[in-house]
Amino acid sequence: MRVGGLVAWCVVAALLLGCTEPPAAPQRFDRVVVEGRAEVRDTPGRTVVLGIDALGPRILRQALEEANVPALRALVAESATALVDVRPTEMPPLSPRVWATFATGVTPQVHGIKHWGDQTGSETRLYTSRDRKVPALWDIASALGTTVGVVNWLTTYPAEPVNGFVVADRFNKRWAEKEAGLVRSENRARAELAVYPPELREPLEGLVPPPQPRVLKASKYEAIDRSVFRTAARARRAIPVDLLMVYTRSFDEICHLAWFTHDPPPGMKRPGRDLVMDYLELYDRMLAGFVNRLGDDDHLVVVSDHGFERGPGRNGRPQGIHRSPKTATAVLLLRGPRIRRGARVGTVSALDVAPTILELAGLPSARSLPGKVVAAAFRPDERSFVAPVESYELRTPPTAQTRATDDVDRDPALVERLRALGYLE
Ligand SMILES: [Zn+2]
Repeated sequence: MRVGGLVAWCVVAALLLGCTEPPAAPQRFDRVVVEGRAEVRDTPGRTVVLGIDALGPRILRQALEEANVPALRALVAESATALVDVRPTEMPPLSPRVWATFATGVTPQVHGIKHWGDQTGSETRLYTSRDRKVPALWDIASALGTTVGVVNWLTTYPAEPVNGFVVADRFNKRWAEKEAGLVRSENRARAELAVYPPELREPLEGLVPPPQPRVLKASKYEAIDRSVFRTAARARRAIPVDLLMVYTRSFDEICHLAWFTHDPPPGMKRPGRDLVMDYLELYDRMLAGFVNRLGDDDHLVVVSDHGFERGPGRNGRPQGIHRSPKTATAVLLLRGPRIRRGARVGTVSALDVAPTILELAGLPSARSLPGKVVAAAFRPDERSFVAPVESYELRTPPTAQTRATDDVDRDPALVERLRALGYLE
């Protein structure tokens, strides 16, 4: 065999030349080019990341003071907490680019996820995982032999091959909509792109509970996130992973819809219930179920992307928005054996989130990344961090040509929804 012969010759040549580097082990997941020597440390527990969209510092503080949120309260008490400046992800704070920055450690200019959809052509084209120009944490973990699971993280559709599993962001939402009768039929080809590995899809599909009429339109969003948590638990049982990243979106949707019940405009009669706080109490129960599954050795990272403010009315009802700089601060909670319990570590950058997750997972950050590990959150005896590599790059970055032939990025129902929320023109 030509190729085998060539490899054998290279090994012999390396030995003859006195090279002490062993030949690189074959990688199953070779989407990433690692520049520099990668040290991977064993960690006793798992690293679990939970994204809570729109949980800004002000609403969190208020919930801790006034609401029945025992899981959040315990979590904050046990964690090191930081404020996250998300202005490096550009203004206004827009969820897809912030979550892509958390997952890559670079700005939207570099990772390429600039918005929900690209509106430069005649038709709105939604950004997909194929638009990301740099490796995400799950690509890096996979390349370095760490098992990783991703559930519902924004802009992960179509699901990419990883050393573990990916349940892409359109999976739970579309299924819930079908259950609720909002979508009549599922495009099979699209559905099949939502989960990696493909055989994981069927056992996950039956997990979505029917929406419950609890508060406003909250039932649908609550149902989606409930299914996200169930999906994460089931997928992790099927494929145990060392690094798990789960993103939940329902709180953002509730804030858009019901902010006027929390923060009514002058002259408006205060509604009987604060539906934003009510919803946080519901979410807290889901959070408790998720956090209770973690072990003493596990590290938990809870992160959000922006706060909320009162915006102008739409269809006669004031909406919640996140546009001004005062909504560009989010929160980061770190909990686990290496972390200073109860520490307040000030303000960090959105760019620091990815290096910190890598460190907790025993993986090297990269010198090419602008952010750094949030050292102040770690116990003083836990601050000898994994040496960074030079850089991580995608072996085959997406090109305009492959994107143009994509048919997976046109989802009229989702475009309509994003329009209703004021995200797209
Ligand atoms: Zn958001």
